[in-house]
Amino acid sequence: MRKIQVITLFPEMFDGVLNSSMMWKAQQQEAIEFKMVNLRDYGLGQRQRVDDTPYGGGDGMLLMAEPLFAAVESAREYDRNAKVVIMTPRGQRWKQAIAQDWADSGDGYIFICGRYEGYDERILTLVDEEVSVGDYVLTGGELPAMTIIDSIVRLIPGVLGGEDSAAIESFSDGETLEFPQYTRPEDFRGMKVPDVLLSGNHAAIAKWRADNSVKAD
Ligand code: SAM
Repeated sequence: MRKIQVITLFPEMFDGVLNSSMMWKAQQQEAIEFKMVNLRDYGLGQRQRVDDTPYGGGDGMLLMAEPLFAAVESAREYDRNAKVVIMTPRGQRWKQAIAQDWADSGDGYIFICGRYEGYDERILTLVDEEVSVGDYVLTGGELPAMTIIDSIVRLIPGVLGGEDSAAIESFSDGETLEFPQYTRPEDFRGMKVPDVLLSGNHAAIAKWRADNSVKAD
């Protein structure tokens, strides 16, 4: 079974996301196993310290190398071939095409969630990929990790309802955004579903959908 492990100081943040909807279903189907690794368990001393001030000065704290190395090494014992991924605004920008590659790869993943002002750079010696979810700064790597995990797991064959569900979605070819969609009723407060979608003419529907799909920037 594919394993996704997350190294975080806030494992409880993942409860709702990973135990609902498609992520829950993926676990029920044994397509995926999620394991939270609490960085605090690898903290130093009686107070299980995980952070310290940066050399050279500056505001804020950094996650220390020692607990991070211990947590990654422990996660690697559980899944020896797992790829290690760190969340960082400096990383490569996440894209649907990368989600598809990672879903297809069959690999397990260990996601490291940064906190505070970030982490001691030496952890990068254990990291395979640095990933950003966009050009903005979040408080921690947990929301980025959840976003990335969701986008990968839903593409694992069998997890979504219809096998074609992901194939016709936005970005599935890397650039096209999905056409507008409608469901019942045909007329809602005077807003009518386009006639062509009610016509049963599959060729005309396909053309309308192609004409109404737009290219992403
Ligand atoms: N001092 C860092 C900087 O200026 O780049 C920002 C640190 S941020 C407050 C704390 C952590 O949140 C980061 O180490 C990273 O793990 C995560 N994070 C914040 N924004 C992110 C983004 N856009 N993509 C991925 N991870 C992000």
